[in-house]
Amino acid sequence: MKHYYIYTPTVFLSFLLSCSKEPQVKPMKKATAAIDVTHIKVVNEEDPVCHMKTAEYLKDTAVYKGQVYGFCSSHCKDEFKKQPENYLK
Ligand SMILES: [Zn+2]
Repeated sequence: MKHYYIYTPTVFLSFLLSCSKEPQVKPMKKATAAIDVTHIKVVNEEDPVCHMKTAEYLKDTAVYKGQVYGFCSSHCKDEFKKQPENYLK
C-alpha cells in the first residue's frame, strides 16, 4: 500500500510534463482521419484547393450542385465552400 502513495504523484507529474511538451495539433488530424471516405466516389481527381490527388489523399467530401467533391482535409473543404466557383474555374 505504501508504494501507491509514493508512485502516484510521480506518475501524475510525468504525465503532466509529457503532455505539456506535446504540441496540441495532432489530435485534430486524427479525428478527421477517423472518418473513412475513401470508398466514396468523387467527381474531381484533384483537390481543387491544394491540387492533391483525391484518389490517394481523400479525407473529406462536400456536395456542391449535386456533385460530390473530394478533399484532402476538412480545411480544404472549408476553403472550397467559401468560394466554390473560384475553385471550379
Ligand atoms: Zn487539400
